[in-house]
Amino acid sequence: MTTTKFEVKKHGFHFDNGTFRTSVGPFPCSVLCGGMSYSALDYFKCGIRVPELTKAPAEGNPLEKYLYRRQMTAHYYTWHLFLAAWSAPIPLLGVTSSLVQGSMKELDYYLSSEGPLVMCLFENMGTGHHVLAIGCDKAKQRIELYDNNHHDRNCNLTYKNGIWQHSLSSTKWKGWFLDWGHYTDGTRLPPLSWRFCKKCHSLVTTSFGQTGKCHAGGSHSHNLVFEYFLPCFVNEGERGWRVCSKCQALFYSPSGQATGWCADSNNHTPMSLGKQLLEFGVDSSGQGEKKWHMCKLCFGLFWAGSGNGTCTVGGTHERSSKQYVVAHRTV
Ligand SMILES: [Zn+2]
Ligand SMILES: [Zn+2]
Ligand SMILES: [Zn+2]
Repeated sequence: MTTTKFEVKKHGFHFDNGTFRTSVGPFPCSVLCGGMSYSALDYFKCGIRVPELTKAPAEGNPLEKYLYRRQMTAHYYTWHLFLAAWSAPIPLLGVTSSLVQGSMKELDYYLSSEGPLVMCLFENMGTGHHVLAIGCDKAKQRIELYDNNHHDRNCNLTYKNGIWQHSLSSTKWKGWFLDWGHYTDGTRLPPLSWRFCKKCHSLVTTSFGQTGKCHAGGSHSHNLVFEYFLPCFVNEGERGWRVCSKCQALFYSPSGQATGWCADSNNHTPMSLGKQLLEFGVDSSGQGEKKWHMCKLCFGLFWAGSGNGTCTVGGTHERSSKQYVVAHRTV
């Protein structure tokens, strides 16, 4: 039995695939199955928590845009393989070309050396599904999955009577192959989750599993109703925003230097992931919640819709005139 560190309840999305835009790419794959598999792997490999959303993000939400972009990547790398799979006779395990039916030996090897792998399941012409393989048992011909059609549930695929049976659905898959697109394309930085602090009114991230010190004392107190997302592509919004590794708040520093004032004393410190200094864009128009402003004193982004919130520098934040808009979604 080979396992990876991927835990479905912890690392998988908490909503199901299936409520997104309908026409994606050249094939009727199950909506954003490739996007969700690639993205879940991005979060896992970056060591960032997946968003807490329990409903699929609406069209135009940064997370949805990211999943959609990843879906296109997945199709780009696999559409010709799907064609091969669909046009082949019913594959016999271990006999057919690896292009059509993957081998358990190969799966086992790469699961133990690389961790979770994106896999494509295929049935009849027109039916394909991307999942994440997270473990396998060669002797039992069983593959453990994160399947984006069954959020928060462990499931598997077992080879029995010439077909691959899914433990949670009646679909009988003819076969599967490994999708090396994520491997080729590399891991991308997926959208971070942000929360509004009810005490200091700052926008703070929960993606790194830290709460961070609050301008109002103690730790931030997250509003649990809304989860916020910033634009996920480099050509969107005003760039130059950073996340502070001490207080987890978003603050403005185009140069990437430590600046402003942190609730944890001294300047905010921009966070890096690996060797990459993190940078974010913030919109000033479009969908989302208005009335977000930069504080002239601490350089943090805060919501000025109900008072100005607490700032360690001036008692309350002092708003600069420019207004920003931040996309949000009910959890
Ligand atoms: Zn706070
Ligand atoms: Zn800070
Ligand atoms: Zn301030």
